[in-house]
Amino acid sequence: MRTPFIAGNWKMHMDRAEAKALAQAMKTELAGVPHKLMVAPPFTALETVGAVLQGSNILLGAQNMAPATSGAHTGEISPLMLKDLGVSVVILGHSERRHSYGETDALINEKVRLALQEGLEVILCVGETLEEREANRVNQVVETQMKEGLKGVTADQLENVTIAYEPVWAIGTGKTATPDDADAVHTTVRAIVADLYGADEADKMVIQYGGSVKPDNVKGLMGRDNIDGALVGGASLKTETFVPIAQFDR
Ligand code: PEP
Repeated sequence: MRTPFIAGNWKMHMDRAEAKALAQAMKTELAGVPHKLMVAPPFTALETVGAVLQGSNILLGAQNMAPATSGAHTGEISPLMLKDLGVSVVILGHSERRHSYGETDALINEKVRLALQEGLEVILCVGETLEEREANRVNQVVETQMKEGLKGVTADQLENVTIAYEPVWAIGTGKTATPDDADAVHTTVRAIVADLYGADEADKMVIQYGGSVKPDNVKGLMGRDNIDGALVGGASLKTETFVPIAQFDR
C-alpha cells in the first residue's frame, strides 16, 4: 500500500549540458513507471533539469538547503529559492553533510522543520558508521538521528517525510547491506515512527534504503516488507543503471 519511491542523488556531478542530457534521457525512458521518482541535481543545474522534467513523472529534488528563508547566509540556498526553481523535495541529513560538513542533528532538525513549513517534501537520511555498527550501536544511532531530526514535526506533516536508511559504510563503497541487514534496521525505523507518532503513521511511512543500490541488488532489497524504495547515488548518474533500478518490479 506504500508507493515505492526511487530517488537519485547526483551529488556534485555534471555541468548543465550533461545534466540536461541525462534528464532528457530519464524523462523518456522512465515515462509510465508506476513508482514515485525524483532526481536531485546540483544546485547549479536545478533550473535546467527542472525545465526538462516539466510535465514528466519525475520530481525535482535538491540535495540540501539553509535553515533560513533569506538573509546574511553567505553561500547558502533557501527553501524559497528552491521552490522558485520548481523543487518539491529536499534531501536533508545526508551522511556526507553530517560527516564531511559537520551537520548536527539540531541543525538538520531546523532544516527539516523549515522545509516542511515551506511546503517542501523531505527525505531525512539516517544511518550508522562502520565503527558504530561494529560497536552494536546501529539502533541507538538511528533512534537518536530520527528523534532529534523529527523534533517538532507534527503527525500531519509526516506525510511529507520519507526516511532514508543509509548505512555510511555502504555509501559509494560498493558494499551493500544485505536485504536481511537492511530490513532489520528498516523494521527498527518503522518501530521508532510508531513510538513517536503511532502505528497508523508508521504503517504509512515510506522508508528508502541507500548504499550502493545497483540494478542487480534492487529486487532483493525491495522484496522486503519494510523496504519501500531507494536513495541512489552513483548508479543514478547513468540511464543504464538508474532506469532498471527505477523500473524494479517485486
Ligand atoms: C547516497 O549518496 O545517498 C548513496 C546511496 O550513494 P551510493 O548509491 O553511491 O552508495
